[in-house]
Amino acid sequence: MYDVIVVGAGPAGSTTAKYAAEGGAETLIIEKRKQVGVPVQCGEFLPSLAEIYDLVPGALNPEELFVVKESFISRRTDKIRFISPGGKKLVCDFSGIVLERKLFDNYLAEEAVKSGAELLTGTKVVGIEKNNGRTKVVTSGESYEGKIIVGADGPVSTVADSAGMQKPELSPCVNYEIAGDFEPVVEMYLGGAAPGGYAWVIPKAKSANVGLGVQEKFVKNSNLKTLLDNFVEKLNLKKSILNYSGGNDPCSGPINETVKENVLLVGDAAGHVMASNGGGIPIAMLCGRIAGEVCAEQIKNKNKISLAGYEKLWRKQVGETLSNSLKTKKIADMVFGSGILLEFAIGRLGSRGMERVVRCKPVNPLNYL
Ligand SMILES: Cc1cc2nc3c(=O)[nH]c(=O)nc-3n(C[C@H](O)[C@H](O)[C@H](O)COP(=O)(O)OP(=O)(O)OC[C@H]3O[C@@H](n4cnc5c(N)ncnc54)[C@H](O)[C@@H]3O)c2cc1C
Repeated sequence: MYDVIVVGAGPAGSTTAKYAAEGGAETLIIEKRKQVGVPVQCGEFLPSLAEIYDLVPGALNPEELFVVKESFISRRTDKIRFISPGGKKLVCDFSGIVLERKLFDNYLAEEAVKSGAELLTGTKVVGIEKNNGRTKVVTSGESYEGKIIVGADGPVSTVADSAGMQKPELSPCVNYEIAGDFEPVVEMYLGGAAPGGYAWVIPKAKSANVGLGVQEKFVKNSNLKTLLDNFVEKLNLKKSILNYSGGNDPCSGPINETVKENVLLVGDAAGHVMASNGGGIPIAMLCGRIAGEVCAEQIKNKNKISLAGYEKLWRKQVGETLSNSLKTKKIADMVFGSGILLEFAIGRLGSRGMERVVRCKPVNPLNYL
């Protein structure tokens, strides 16, 4: 019997497991992939620590999580350039790092193991079963009993399904890694090539992640890969494609309740993603630390397990950021359907308005009319 079983060894799961194990809980991580972090399904962009202080002002000691080793950094960037469908360009200062996520995710899992967690890879969880007050995590092979179960199994969470918990709405995304030399600027092409979302160019050391994420309600009869091919063709990058990946980003804000009895959800499984830009790595890790600490504390208490503190704490630390970001996304949704309105809104916002958007600050559209 484990104290804590964490399903998924992404940034959320490995961070949860590290803090749970550090706090003395016997912790097992179950990961379906044979190798943690592979394949990469991500733009790999992480705001710099300085930006995270501003982006998530409620976060406690983010420096504990986001001082990233040089060996996991492919490239640093210092600006974001927004491009409207009509070609208008707005530039904001915003510093970031482009990760080698394969290495970064693997490091986070290793840190959890160093703290005492057990890691089981190549094992897919198919559900959880509750019987006579006992909870079993069922895999394609054996079953494991745990006092607390953490669903850190990404946007299509088996744990959420199995526990009968809410799931976030998903925005499908596709990405090519493309070889070449790119300037140290992140580009975001709003709407246009990516209906209801944006297309990105995120520069790495000798390549770039070039992808897009959309909302299905805005996509008319188009295949996502075709949209990306058209975008890449327009940028004249088609010849240098290295690899292709795709995935889902939960961009509908956090789910209403991330705790049900002895089960909690964290990271993408809980909708812990900034809805207006799809960035989830920092929020997943901040919430993972809270989840791990709360799990360890509950195990130490030896009373009946109550995970309510987790819900309260993550809302306190990252709730405002997620809520501002969701409000911005809802405003954007009002103009995404019309090229003219979108062009007008981007023009009115200007660089200063876009800077507020990207930093998840409240944006009042009336101020820009
Ligand atoms: C194309 C794309 C681009 C993105 N770009 C960025 C970006 O540039 N910056 C950013 O901050 N965010 C980005 N995101 C979002 C970001 O990737 C996620 O928010 C982040 O990875 C969330 O971490 P997580 O640990 O919650 O989930 P994940 O990283 O998805 O980890 C979940 C883990 O659970 C495992 N798992 C799933 N099901 C099971 C199961 N049944 N049994 C066992 N294991 C299971 C998976 O294999 C995986 O390892 C992007 C997302 C997509 C799809």
